[in-house]
Amino acid sequence: MGDWHPECPARLQAIDDQLIASGLASLLEHRDAPIAAEEDIELVHSPAAIARVRDYLPPAGGYHPLDADTLLNAHSWQAALRAAGAAIAATDAVMAGEVDNAFCAIRPPGHHATPEAAMGFCLFNNVAIAARHAMQVYGLERIAIIDFDVHHGNGTEAAFEADARVLMASFFQHPLYPYSGVHPAGTTPANMVNVPVPAYTRGDVVRELVREHWLPALHAHRPQMLFVSAGFDAHREDDMASMGLVEADYAWITRQLVEVAQQYAKGRIVSCLEGGYALSALGRSVVAHLKVLAGVA
Ligand SMILES: [Zn+2]
Repeated sequence: MGDWHPECPARLQAIDDQLIASGLASLLEHRDAPIAAEEDIELVHSPAAIARVRDYLPPAGGYHPLDADTLLNAHSWQAALRAAGAAIAATDAVMAGEVDNAFCAIRPPGHHATPEAAMGFCLFNNVAIAARHAMQVYGLERIAIIDFDVHHGNGTEAAFEADARVLMASFFQHPLYPYSGVHPAGTTPANMVNVPVPAYTRGDVVRELVREHWLPALHAHRPQMLFVSAGFDAHREDDMASMGLVEADYAWITRQLVEVAQQYAKGRIVSCLEGGYALSALGRSVVAHLKVLAGVA
């Protein structure tokens, strides 16, 4: 999205570097992401929202702004289709039992993209598309989406706030972009477990909130599959926000999700990269997340 932009290709390189340095890369099965069909994107997004990406690609070297910090370049349509395609292919592989779980190292991220609009670095909502795919193709009736990005997943909430098949559990720094997820008393959608936390909240407090709010809701919902909007920008080294998580907190959260998935969902988890902009912390945090998913930590 431009040389100045934090949502940059170096993020995926940083993840690759840490996977190799940790020795984890050789334990994982790597797959390339296929390109999603436009009908897959339509599982979540309106034709108008799709057209605002597809039909406005600038010539090579140029940028077309969708909002102040969300821009298209000549390759954005293909990149967005590939990000969503990864989430769908991961869902298919997990549902087929080819792999126990999957992590999609993808950009652009997705959880701010609403059915009607790209925003906040996100073009299409990869996790929401994959969740709809799981319900439509495999007939799943109970899905959980866990979002531990530091920002509220407003796009995912917009997609599912009226869909009781989906339980969404998240924490997010508040107030912070996109200034959503905190509803007037008594108006939070019943399937949204929104846990706003103030700046400078550390991991021990987050863990307590997960125990208090997420886990009872997850056990009550008994999800047949879990999707994770895995943003790592709540890390204490990430200056996109001001929270204090460290790698061990991401590992702990992941362990809770694995236990829920083993209890109700045959272990099925598809995790998709969202934010995380401090490159070293991002790579290390993904390693901590994947070690638990891979069962080696
Ligand atoms: Zn974020």
